[in-house]
Amino acid sequence: MNPKSKLPHLGTTIFTLMSELAAEHGAINLSQGFPDFDCSPDLVHLVSLAMKQGLNHYSPMSGIAELREEISRKQYEIHQANYHPSTEVTVTAGGSEALFSAIAAVVHPGDEVIVFEPAYDLYRPAIELFGGVVRAVRLMAPDFRIDWNEVRSLISHKTRLIVLNNPNNPATVVLDEDDFKELIQIVRNSEIMILSDEVYEHIVFDGRQHFSVSRFPELKERSFLVASFGKLYHITGWKVGYCLAPEILTKEFRKVHQFNVFCVNTPVQYGLAEFLKRKEEYLALPSLFQQKRDFFMDGLAQSGFKAIKPQGSYFLLADYSEISGLNEFDFSKWLTIKHKVAVIPVSAFYANPPEQKLVRFCFAKKEETLEKALEILVKLK
Ligand code: PMP
Ligand code: GLN
Repeated sequence: MNPKSKLPHLGTTIFTLMSELAAEHGAINLSQGFPDFDCSPDLVHLVSLAMKQGLNHYSPMSGIAELREEISRKQYEIHQANYHPSTEVTVTAGGSEALFSAIAAVVHPGDEVIVFEPAYDLYRPAIELFGGVVRAVRLMAPDFRIDWNEVRSLISHKTRLIVLNNPNNPATVVLDEDDFKELIQIVRNSEIMILSDEVYEHIVFDGRQHFSVSRFPELKERSFLVASFGKLYHITGWKVGYCLAPEILTKEFRKVHQFNVFCVNTPVQYGLAEFLKRKEEYLALPSLFQQKRDFFMDGLAQSGFKAIKPQGSYFLLADYSEISGLNEFDFSKWLTIKHKVAVIPVSAFYANPPEQKLVRFCFAKKEETLEKALEILVKLK
């Protein structure tokens, strides 16, 4: 067979490649983003309780009411944003499914979508699969600030969607209020929609505030907001997230969601609905991850890597030009195979990578894991 590929230039994701390489070579895996510590045993207990109670069949297509209500309450408490649980909240198979279904629901062939690069790897292939055209705005290290005039220059009658990722993976920056003022001006009186990937919403450092699109009525009315329980509760393998959007957008979103997955793992939803009432769990995230960030930054300061201080997310970018002249992909492979620390080349997040020597470390790890990795990394000077 010779299928006519819809994504002829696409290979396997960099996260899969690097995690496989790490496993094959017994390397400490700081590549793919997931914690190496367990989630709360109480959450596991709540989910097993639901399983034992026989809550093992299909949930409603949009998610169980209890969970949608808790999500809606949380969004109101934190951002004073109202989303009606029955018509504006949809529980999804992770942030990924929410992003994919939103793109599938609104991107028509020939539509243009503005994406900021470095960009999370899912956006571009999903947009292209539905015939959309990516107009990339390239952000540059170390500050990765958005030039809003460049964004303005890319807007046309074909612009359907702007994709935001805040806090940003892999750039680790957090948008400020001025960024949102610019965005509001740009989309005002237009039909442009926004897809706001906020999966790292609670992981912001140094007392920063996370501004959600849902905070700004002029943005909220045109936005799909995507969140993930994987990041919130250290359960990346459970693949549960959600999409918040005004009713008119949710209607379109659910047309795709219902045939993409129909519904999501029922007992996990019951467990999460109960666990979500404990605010202290997610309110502890900034300090939990800031400690890890600082520990890892302090360690790297003794090495040849030049770290860029993360404002948010659980990733850290570092320049390795003092250590090696290899390109980012070859350096990442060399570090994994020869020195047993796996990382992600930042070039994987650009369609046309700039000339730079940056790798991404995931520091969502136990202190002992970070310590072992640092022991190796400081010797590379
Ligand atoms: N968006 C970003 C920026 C991510 O880093 C990830 C991966 N963790 C996702 C979306 C996907 O989230 P999930 O694992 O819940 O599908
Ligand atoms: N979000 C994770 C990361 O950035 C990867 C998730 C995945 O492998 N798709 O590392």
